[in-house]
Order: sequence, then C-alpha cells, then structure tokens
Amino acid sequence: MMTVQATNSVTAADEIDLDAPIFDPKAFRLNDEQAVIIATARELGQSVFAGRAGTYDREAKFPTENYRDLHRAGLLGIAIPSKHGGLGADYQTYAIAAAEIGRYCGATALTWNMHVCSTLWSGPLADDLDMDTATRTEHERRRAIHYKRIVDDGAIYSQPFSEGGAAAAGGVAFGTEARPVKGGWIVNGKKIFASLSGHADYYGVLCTEIAEGEKASRRNTLYLALPAKADGVSVVGDWDPLGMRGTVSRTLLFKNVFVPEDAALMPRGVYFQAAMRWPHMFLTLSPTYIGLAQAAYDFTVRYLRGEVPGTPPVKRRMYPTKQIAVAQMQIRLEQVKAIWFQAVTEARANPTKEQVLRAYAAQYSAMEGANEIATLAIRTCGGQAMLKSLALERIYRDSRCGSLMLPWTAELCLDRIGREALYETGESDD
Ligand SMILES: Cc1cc2nc3c(=O)[nH]c(=O)nc-3n(C[C@H](O)[C@H](O)[C@H](O)COP(=O)(O)OP(=O)(O)OC[C@H]3O[C@@H](n4cnc5c(N)ncnc54)[C@H](O)[C@@H]3O)c2cc1C
Repeated sequence: MMTVQATNSVTAADEIDLDAPIFDPKAFRLNDEQAVIIATARELGQSVFAGRAGTYDREAKFPTENYRDLHRAGLLGIAIPSKHGGLGADYQTYAIAAAEIGRYCGATALTWNMHVCSTLWSGPLADDLDMDTATRTEHERRRAIHYKRIVDDGAIYSQPFSEGGAAAAGGVAFGTEARPVKGGWIVNGKKIFASLSGHADYYGVLCTEIAEGEKASRRNTLYLALPAKADGVSVVGDWDPLGMRGTVSRTLLFKNVFVPEDAALMPRGVYFQAAMRWPHMFLTLSPTYIGLAQAAYDFTVRYLRGEVPGTPPVKRRMYPTKQIAVAQMQIRLEQVKAIWFQAVTEARANPTKEQVLRAYAAQYSAMEGANEIATLAIRTCGGQAMLKSLALERIYRDSRCGSLMLPWTAELCLDRIGREALYETGESDD
C-alpha cells in the first residue's frame, strides 16, 4: 500500500476511523492498483483536507498546503504515464479518486481536476488519438518536459478556457489568439473564471492559432501552457462567490505573451480531434460533485445518529420522517453513482451515440443530484446543522456550482440530449 505523506499539523490517517470508499473496490470490480491510488486520495482527503476546507472556504483562499500534500503523495502526477514518473492512472481511476477528494474539500477537487486534465488530455487521451509518427515523437518529447516539472518540482497547471462568449460552450473559435512567430507564439486574450489564478505555475490556455489575415477556426485550437510569471500575464478582478470559494477563479489577461513551441500541451489539430472523438474529456468536472453528494449523505447519517464532532450527541434517527428522508437521499445517491460509474468506465475514443448520451446524462445527474441531496440534507438535519461552523453549509453552497460548468452545464446537457436523441448527424427538418 502506498504511504500518504502529509504535513504533521493535522490528525494522521491512522488515528481516525477511515470512511468506507464511495465505490467499494470489490463491489465495483476495481483492481488492486486502482484501489491503492483511490485509497490514498481518500485517506489524504479525510485525514488532512477535511480539516482545512472550512478555512479555505471562509477566506476564499487557494488550498496551497493541500497541493504540497498532493505532490508528496504522488497525486499531482496521478494521470502521468508511469514511464514519465507518474502513477499512470487511467480515466476511471482518476475520476473515482477525484470524487474521494471532493467528498472532503470541493475546491481542492475541482482545481485538482483542472491540473490533472493537463496531464490526462496530453497523456492517455492523446495516446488514443491519431498522429503521424513524427508528430507523436515530438509530442512525447514535449510532454516529458511538462510532466518532469510536475513530478519533480510539484508544478501546478490550470485550465482556463472560459471567455464569457460561446467559445467555452464549443460553439465558436476561442477569442484568445496565438499568432505564430519564430520559435513559438505571441498570445493575446482574456479568460474569465480561471480557477487557480495567481496560484498555478502554468496556465493551460485554449486559444486559436491565427496568422495575419486568417479567419479564426475551431480546428486551429491550440492548448498552450503559459508560465504564470511570463511578461504580459496578469490576474485581475475580485473573487467573492457563493461557493467553490477556494478555487480562486479570477480573470486572466494575456498581452503579447511570448511562449516557445515546447509550451504546446497537444500538437496542432489534436485538441479539436479530442473534442470531436473523446467527448468524455468534458465529464471530468463531475467527480467533485459525486464526492459532495456522498459528503451530504454521510453528514446526514452522522448527524441523525448524534455523531457529528462539535455538536451535542443528540439522536434524531428515531423519527419516521427522518428515516424516509435518508431513504430518499440514499436512493438518489445510488442512482447518481450508478450512471456516473458506468459513464466514467466507458470513457474512450469514438464512443457510441448511446455512450455519449449517457455521459451527458451522468454529468447532469452528478451536478444536479449533488445539490438535490445537499438540499434534502439541510431540510432533514434542520437549523442547527446549517451553521457555518459545520461542513454541511459549505457542501450545500459548493454543490450549487456544478451545473454552471461549461461546456456541459445542466442546461447544455439537456439541450444536447434532446437534440441528439431526436436527430442523427446531418439530419434537419429544412
Ligand atoms: C467555481 C467555478 C470555477 C470555474 N473554473 C473554471 C476554470 O478553471 N476554467 C474555465 O475555463 N472555466 C471555469 N469556470 C467557468 C464555467 O465553466 C463557465 O464558463 C462559467 O460559469 C460561465 O458563466 P457565464 O454565466 O458567463 O456563462 P454564459 O456563457 O453567460 O452562459 C450562461 C448559461 O447559458 C447557457 N449557455 C451558454 N452558452 C450556450 C449556448 N451556446 N447554447 C445554449 N445555452 C448556452 C449555459 O447553461 C450557461 O450556464 C468556473 C466556474 C465556476 C462557477
């Protein structure tokens, strides 16, 4: 079993009763390697991150200390192939580990997702896509540079793609532009809601490569890692949101930022290919919310049993109304877990139409389901449980934010499911 090395200031994993896994390895047929990685995330989350989550939330502060612990535990490199020094986890393993982190600190799980996607998309996902031999060799050389920074130095990557227009929803080309110059690109543009702003070492920016006089096209999307300290990069605006406060998702401005060719996290054309052929790449924001759904349920059971630390040991479990509410929460949780587990298990290149529709449905279920379960938890536990001194109030606020995440917001999932269920590719009524 891998050892979790965390700072000593908080309770060590072996001093507390560990929570049961969200997905029991035996019941969900996970192998030993997967179980070890996921258990590492769960132990770190429960023994260390849970205790810090309230402060990050209250102060809208980035979880810097958690990132040091993630690095020590090898989890910054969870999806980096083992030949590059990472844990070599596949998509499913990462997703379940992220759910375990989200159970204890939503903001850490969500920002960790932005970081991990830099390695998941350039790693196992890119390995599934078409590239000629020369392009693949060059990609291998370049990604080794990024992976080494993460594994050796604990470098943190983020993933700003939202711009406030239709680009993040996949409708049009990104407005942030990369003009090709000798040895690299000059980047200009703006990203909103950029989680980890001011805290990541590299911003993994989605932008459009565009030469003088050319028209912007989604096909020419580039995925470039801009050093946070590069000339022309600035972070602006306030950050005082409803939930997910520790994500520090401020606005990034890029003014004539030069980046060398090695900044490319994917070769030309490969991001567009991924968006077309590997749609589950956009499902990775959901694990955090599976964790929050589980957390709301766990809290309710403990609270009704009179076992939440810091509250009087008053039992409320004997009331039939409470029992019914817990039953409703358990049923909803199992429904959400089931569709989500199936969707993350079948993530791959060229999924069938049924699998794509299921991925949208899983995203919708996780994002809306987490908030439904948290809402029931507040109603069931009652007034004393929603005080800011307890975790439930934060879980409730964080859970409301999932449906807003582009490109698969709850609204856009409904829109896509309805349209794609009724129309085959190329069909229209005109
Ligand atoms: C806590 C948090 C962290 C975030 N972190 C990041 C991050 O790290 N990186 C990042 O890139 N983004 C991030 N985002 C941004 C997020 O993905 C969205 O871009 C953002 O919430 C959009 O807000 P908006 O109201 O401006 O969206 P708008 O573009 O105004 O859309 C409003 C709603 O309209 C709907 N809509 C939008 N476009 C269409 C369309 N073409 N057709 C039909 N309906 C549409 C959607 O349901 C959308 O929710 C984060 C957001 C939050 C809340």
